[in-house]
Amino acid sequence: MISRGPFTPAEFDEKDAESTLASFRVLVIGAGGLGCEMIKNLAVSGFKHIHVIDMDKIDLSNLNRQFLFALEDVGKPKAVVAANAVMARVPGVNITPHFCKIQDFDLAFYKQFQIVVCGLDSIDARRWINFTLYQLVDPDDPASIIPMVDGGTEGFKGQTRVILPSLSACYECSLDLLGPKKTYPICTIANTPRLPEHCIEWAYILEWPKHHPYPIDTDNIDHLNWVYQTALVRARENNIPGVTHSLTVGVVKNVIPAVASTNAVIAAACCNEAFKLATACNPVLDNYMMYMGESDVYAHSFELERRTDCPVCGSTSMTLTVGAETTLNEFIDTLRERADTNVSKPSLRTAAKNLYLQAPPQLEEATRPHLELKLSSLIEENDEIIVTDPNIPLALKISIRYS
Ligand SMILES: [Zn+2]
Repeated sequence: MISRGPFTPAEFDEKDAESTLASFRVLVIGAGGLGCEMIKNLAVSGFKHIHVIDMDKIDLSNLNRQFLFALEDVGKPKAVVAANAVMARVPGVNITPHFCKIQDFDLAFYKQFQIVVCGLDSIDARRWINFTLYQLVDPDDPASIIPMVDGGTEGFKGQTRVILPSLSACYECSLDLLGPKKTYPICTIANTPRLPEHCIEWAYILEWPKHHPYPIDTDNIDHLNWVYQTALVRARENNIPGVTHSLTVGVVKNVIPAVASTNAVIAAACCNEAFKLATACNPVLDNYMMYMGESDVYAHSFELERRTDCPVCGSTSMTLTVGAETTLNEFIDTLRERADTNVSKPSLRTAAKNLYLQAPPQLEEATRPHLELKLSSLIEENDEIIVTDPNIPLALKISIRYS
């Protein structure tokens, strides 16, 4: 039963809305803290055809908030258990789980959905799905625009946003909202540690691979203890105070505690938007709602603007101004730190030459000497650098100005 409210448009028909809802195809990405809430909310709101993608298996530490999972589910795929748990409780809903990465599917798969609701904890995954949905837009066919409703939480803070690919600001448009990335230059970590974090990163990034033939598992207590003890020795040698076990966990896992009530608020807001998008019963969020629950409870919504130089939906390339003395290596560090570029292992080239390539090894070696050269000796002003990174689906185009 959908009842009319003060903002319900005159042409809204309740019966039409209910049948639309029953045939609507919605995709949920993520079956973790947000995802469990989203799948449950969508099912009890009347959506009948739900798909869910999640690449993770259930861990013991998930059970305090990912309420669709029980102790006997530990080790099983989240998507499968979440789908079965909701189908067992909500009659008539059909939920198809996919235990895989979002990148395992092609455009044809994503095209079958009318809304994508994201409960992700990864920037790279959001960039990937944002770009994918943008690629599906056919300017002559409004039905090809698949709204992306994106939820995110961090401790007591969260946000919900509605992205209409090609019409509203996209995820990539607002990367700068994330603030600068906390990265430490490898040379500092290796040679001149000053902070406790440098010692922890040294143990985690540089020492672990030297002493172990297998990758670190950041959920393994023994692995974390090894990093902590190794960092502690390094810190003592360099007279750096402040390496603690909890700081080690924080640096290695890059975690902020997950709060169940924040997930519930943000997932509810996301599903509210999905419901309004599907039924047209009320105006849709335009386009960003932030929620703060640290001291008091506060929410604010505003319209995020599109960026004309957005690499996904903009029409011009980004321009960066760099000092004439800046080396290629320093420029790459800038790209890694800036929130609006947000790359981790970038390869850089221009239309005419390779500046620095991370792979294959022969090209890495051949281009490595460029790292110490001044950018101004490698490329002219206004030349366009094409930046690619294994974690992001698109190539960033950056025009260079010298100051
Ligand atoms: Zn954009």
